[in-house]
Amino acid sequence: MSLLKKSAVELVSLLRDGELTSADLTRAYLNQIEEHEGTIQAFLHVDREAALQQAEDLDRRRAAGENMGPLGGLPVAVKDLLCTRGVTTTCASRMLENFRPPYDATVIARLKAAGAVLIGRTNMDEFAMGGSCENSAFQTTKNPWDPERIPGGSSGGAAACVAAAMAPLSVGSDTGGSIRQPAALCGVTGLKPTYGRVSRYGLVAFASSLDQIGPLAATAEDVALLLEVLAGHDPLDSTSIDAPVPRYIETVRQPLEGLRVGLVTDHLAEQLDPDVEAAVREAVRVYESLGANVEEVSLPHSRYGIATYYVIAPSEASSNLARYDGAHYGYRTDESALQAELAAERAAAQSEQEEARLDTPLVRMYRKTRSEGFGAEVKRRIMLGTYALSSGYYDAYYLKALKVRRLIVEDYRAAFQKADVLLGPVTPSPAMPLGHFKDDPLGMYLTDLFTVGANLAGIAGISLPCGQSREGLPIGLHLQAPPLEEERLLRAAHMFQTATDWHRRRPDFVASED
Ligand code: GLN
Repeated sequence: MSLLKKSAVELVSLLRDGELTSADLTRAYLNQIEEHEGTIQAFLHVDREAALQQAEDLDRRRAAGENMGPLGGLPVAVKDLLCTRGVTTTCASRMLENFRPPYDATVIARLKAAGAVLIGRTNMDEFAMGGSCENSAFQTTKNPWDPERIPGGSSGGAAACVAAAMAPLSVGSDTGGSIRQPAALCGVTGLKPTYGRVSRYGLVAFASSLDQIGPLAATAEDVALLLEVLAGHDPLDSTSIDAPVPRYIETVRQPLEGLRVGLVTDHLAEQLDPDVEAAVREAVRVYESLGANVEEVSLPHSRYGIATYYVIAPSEASSNLARYDGAHYGYRTDESALQAELAAERAAAQSEQEEARLDTPLVRMYRKTRSEGFGAEVKRRIMLGTYALSSGYYDAYYLKALKVRRLIVEDYRAAFQKADVLLGPVTPSPAMPLGHFKDDPLGMYLTDLFTVGANLAGIAGISLPCGQSREGLPIGLHLQAPPLEEERLLRAAHMFQTATDWHRRRPDFVASED
């Protein structure tokens, strides 16, 4: 079988046993990228030489008898919002097009220490705002199952590169669904950890009370391998949880006896694509056949999730993005054009009063920097957030949203009295054609209807392949668990993957390669 179709767990053991070098493996992935990246466009940056150099260094260290860490020479792709020392970190924005962080995000430091080869930086929606990668300032990633369709987002490149066998593991981030939704649309497994499970230090911030970094891979086992590397307390992130990290990779294969599955009826009552509904109902039967008890549960406030999220996330974004002012770092408007514009306006001014009302060079610099550096969706979010936080509207919108957030937390608490994991669809439909939501931002927002709840409540969620639509597009199954129960999610997902082979299906161009 082709190397690229092996699981990360298998590859790590081949590397460990000396049956495979990291350089050969990295070369195989780089060749796959070279061959298909023209169509898929999953990466914003791949540095072939740098990747091979890392792999060769790791091979040398292994030959010298050093401990290579749990990833021991395995290539990992990272979403282009994780600060990496000396490596351009763009967040798919013009604003950060030339930004080279002087430090590593904690997860990058952990990956390096674990022996990962950082193979490339994946495309995303600008500042992680979006669900299709079409908001990237640089390129649109295509769905490997059908290049006419969206891969999902915002971690679309992260999901697509795994589906296209361009990397065995990848790291994404999820603020409202950005790991799980693209994982579902690209037919891979992706986990959003509990808020605080993984350090956010060095993650370019979108909405700080919702953002969480997490792994994507073909299988739950591979996700377990990567989560174990990413997770853990970090003194540099005061919201990171100080709790021991379980050995996910050792427990993932243990089935859960007497598992109580809660079928989220509210999510099935929404307007669901019939193929998605059928796949989710079939997944329920699979769990029953594995000995689980399935009971219906309700998350009555989940229908307010999108409205709540689209007040809270933009509010936090408007505050986080205030730092991009052209003065500190990132894009700055062209100053000579700015001076010329000011001179022209001064000349055109009819009176001294009119001239006095013109923006000062500094205000002009801020305004032009931000209007040129940010894309349309980012501006929309900044305006929404600024509005929701402004005096007079703060109580009506922001405060109200916080209250609904609390109700959503309570819903989950009640549901987890009855069930160990909650089960439902990840997305209302399989991948839409490119451009489908071009003039319909609300339609795009609604694709996260089932995923935002986990972010608002800070709990863990996983998306795993559970079927295919009539058109042969992947469908994702959503499992959610209480805070810090990633181990339970991974075990439940692995149980499903022992009984089904959806996670083994690959797009034709991958399946036919050997
Ligand atoms: N699609 C959602 C948004 O645009 C979620 C994004 C995310 O999780 N980063 O905000």
